[in-house]
Amino acid sequence: VNGRTPLIAGNWKMNLDHLQSIAFVQKLAWTLKDARHDTGDVEVAVFPPFTDLRSVQTLVNSDDLPIAFGGQDLSEHDSGAYTGEISGAFLKALDARYVIIGHSERRQYHGETDEQIAAKLTAAHRHGLVPIVCVGETAEDLETHGPSAVPVAQLRIALGGASKGQEVVVAYEPVWAIGSGQAATSEQAQQVAAALRAVVAEVLGDEAAAATRILYGGSVKASNIAGFMREADVDGALVGGASLLLDEFSSIVRFRQ
Ligand code: PEP
Repeated sequence: VNGRTPLIAGNWKMNLDHLQSIAFVQKLAWTLKDARHDTGDVEVAVFPPFTDLRSVQTLVNSDDLPIAFGGQDLSEHDSGAYTGEISGAFLKALDARYVIIGHSERRQYHGETDEQIAAKLTAAHRHGLVPIVCVGETAEDLETHGPSAVPVAQLRIALGGASKGQEVVVAYEPVWAIGSGQAATSEQAQQVAAALRAVVAEVLGDEAAAATRILYGGSVKASNIAGFMREADVDGALVGGASLLLDEFSSIVRFRQ
């Protein structure tokens, strides 16, 4: 027992508008509250599009639902002339607990660099948000550099932006496993997660490393989650496609059953 509460995080990406988000979160809450499906100490978080956050906040707060939520990205700046960007202050004002940073789709389609990701991590901490920092290698990286080199290098730079004493969550997401249906093996996930924990220790210290949750992401499903969760350094999952399927996502949350 390591004291790290398992975290199952659903990244909706650009799916579900604000009305659909209300229906989804309501149904998710029913399945989580169902006494037959005791989820124990597992923390559940959803990452809706920005335009849904106010609706999700209202629902979660008014019904006191056991569901955390956060943004899929944030600006490194606090306010000003940055058209289309979202401030961490705005996320915090909506009671967001988390924010995803450096998702491979942001890196790939929006050219986000490791340095920008470090600046976003600083911004998240400045606003009291818990960053979920995504790192991971492409198939080509895997071929040339092996499994850990690229994620380790990405995390070292990103954590340069962290404030000591503030919480960080790390998500190991091999790019070749995202949305491909081809998940890493639990042994592969464990190997990289252990290397990433060593980076947290190197940058933030041993105590922080022992307390930091490291998630695996990439084609997580109800059928493979238990294997990942059995690994010593895997403390949860960042789930994309399967987080939009109510039964599948609820089963992932109930990985112990
Ligand atoms: C993701 O994009 O964070 C992800 C893990 O996607 P999927 O579960 O669909 O592979």
